[in-house]
Amino acid sequence: MAYDDSNIFARIIRGEIPCSTVYEDDHVLAFKDIQPQRRVHVLIIPKGHYVDMTDFSANASDAEIVAYTRAISRVAEKLGVAENGYRLITNTGVDGHQEVPHLHFHIVGGEPVGPMLKRT
Ligand code: 5GP
Repeated sequence: MAYDDSNIFARIIRGEIPCSTVYEDDHVLAFKDIQPQRRVHVLIIPKGHYVDMTDFSANASDAEIVAYTRAISRVAEKLGVAENGYRLITNTGVDGHQEVPHLHFHIVGGEPVGPMLKRT
């Protein structure tokens, strides 16, 4: 899937839409989800144009991959969820129910998040 730079997270990176930033470095931006599902719900995105984790893991530079991975622990510490734990989620594609076509991890916690997937 080709990257569409009109998606909402591309617009947030460009500063066209506001966000509540919790962490930023050269390669990464983390901000609060607009519809939090738990007390803590933050999205971590690479600033580079990657549709999803498949695209990122295949095509991102080593520097981007290192920065993105390191940012997860920094954000978890900053949010105060590192000790009690949290859920890290990335939805990919149609079957993964991905709504925004720019790679993002959800960090969800601050309270128990419940069990993993259940077959519906
Ligand atoms: P997905 O379903 O793609 O994994 O998750 C997309 C997430 O982006 C959802 O949790 C949704 O609430 C969040 N979201 C969508 N639009 C915006 C926005 O404009 N600002 C912020 N901060 N979050 C958004």
